[in-house]
Amino acid sequence: MSKYLDLGINEIHDLLVKKEITPVDLVNEVFDRIDLDKLNCFITTDKEGALKRAESLGEPDENNILWGLPIALKDNMVTTNMRTTAGSKMLENFVSVYDAHIVDLINENKMIIIGKTNMDEFAMGSSNQTSYFGPVRNPWNNSLVSGGSSGGSASSVSSRIVPFALGSDTGGSIRQPSSFCGIVGLKPTYGRVSRYGLIAFASSLDQIGPMTRNVFENASLLNILCKKDKRDLTHIGKEEDFTRLIGEPISGMKIAIPEFYISDVIDSQVLDKINDIRKLLEDNGATVETVKVPYIDYAVPLYQIIALGEASSNLARFDGIKYGYSAKNAKNIDEFYKKTRSEGFGDEVKRRIMVGSFMLSGKNVSEYYNKALKIRKSISNSFEEIFKEYDLVIGPTTTCLPYEIGEFLQDPNRSFVDDVLTIPVNMAGLPGMSVPIGFSKEHLPIGMQIIGNKWEEAVMYKLAAFIESKLSLDLVPGGDNNE
Ligand code: GLN
Repeated sequence: MSKYLDLGINEIHDLLVKKEITPVDLVNEVFDRIDLDKLNCFITTDKEGALKRAESLGEPDENNILWGLPIALKDNMVTTNMRTTAGSKMLENFVSVYDAHIVDLINENKMIIIGKTNMDEFAMGSSNQTSYFGPVRNPWNNSLVSGGSSGGSASSVSSRIVPFALGSDTGGSIRQPSSFCGIVGLKPTYGRVSRYGLIAFASSLDQIGPMTRNVFENASLLNILCKKDKRDLTHIGKEEDFTRLIGEPISGMKIAIPEFYISDVIDSQVLDKINDIRKLLEDNGATVETVKVPYIDYAVPLYQIIALGEASSNLARFDGIKYGYSAKNAKNIDEFYKKTRSEGFGDEVKRRIMVGSFMLSGKNVSEYYNKALKIRKSISNSFEEIFKEYDLVIGPTTTCLPYEIGEFLQDPNRSFVDDVLTIPVNMAGLPGMSVPIGFSKEHLPIGMQIIGNKWEEAVMYKLAAFIESKLSLDLVPGGDNNE
């Protein structure tokens, strides 16, 4: 089997421009690797379509570093040439009549979509165990979870099946699986990437973002994802070169660590690594200070009100008539709705729809939802104060290491607890990323979260790239999948 996909994208690009390899070679290599995949990363792949597209790309474009490169999409981004399931029986056979905005951008930039990755059902979960299509395995140890909900995207990049994947992040779903799988994942500022064609979970929190093997590749992919789209009214359309600060020194940077992010609920191995990084940054001329960020400890309960409320409303459209699964043999329309939704949705989704509907019914709107929105604003204000003094905020991405598949399945609260360090970032609409900073004694990856001020992704990439270059970690997993 060829090994071009183990190279960095600069090297692959050189080979493509010199015509030593072609996009068809890359697509064939992707599918050779998919054939060996034991991780359950993909729900749908399209080898024929990908080969056809690879053949049709014409002459290599030396000014476009992404030309001819393969990419995978989380299966909640709609495509006209492949089904989009959102990890649910409800949409098992659903093919969209339009493409998501990011699909148009990927095509404009001559990349090749090779398939749709596995995910928690409707992006609800943090271990990929709520997927109708089964759990995704962690490439570093195949009996462990990949994290979620963008678990298939994380696992497929980590195991070197594809150099690029897109994920979506409502409360941590890009950053948490990136941390568990040892890759770089970024949730952009809310409004940075159009959500047009992303199957909505909680619209005021959802963002699409890049998941890659390293920082430069992440920034390079984000470069093409921001082009203005009028179809998402929250989309700002700010374009820039996100790689521009990579390689710059970090001396003089002011970095904050929230007290909440180094509390004793966090695994001690994770905390030790964060401390090592703190020292590394200080030794290189940055100032790192521990700070209080009022209200961030409320983020999880707020999320349970706001995200679930929005989800119950967004998922009302799956009624068996407009999209996807339709129940058979119903006696009347009420029974039809009930049967369709009972049979089409999994337990976690049903639980959330019920809680969300409760939050939005009658007096509960003022009792819970409106109050939650106010405290959400306080979280934003707290971060605003921090960013008056500091360039970036850092802390762990997750409280724990990847756990066994099957563990915590009976604990519906777990998927929220997993995201206690990532949810505050969505609440405030800020950009957040996870970057690998080392391994536990069991050789499982540990990620650090970098949180930036709004629209300051380039500054985050600068710090992430500095850490990456200082640590030079070997991030190719040695799990069964790679033997
Ligand atoms: N784990 C969180 C949840 O279960 C976040 C999911 C997400 O970001 N899509 O809702």
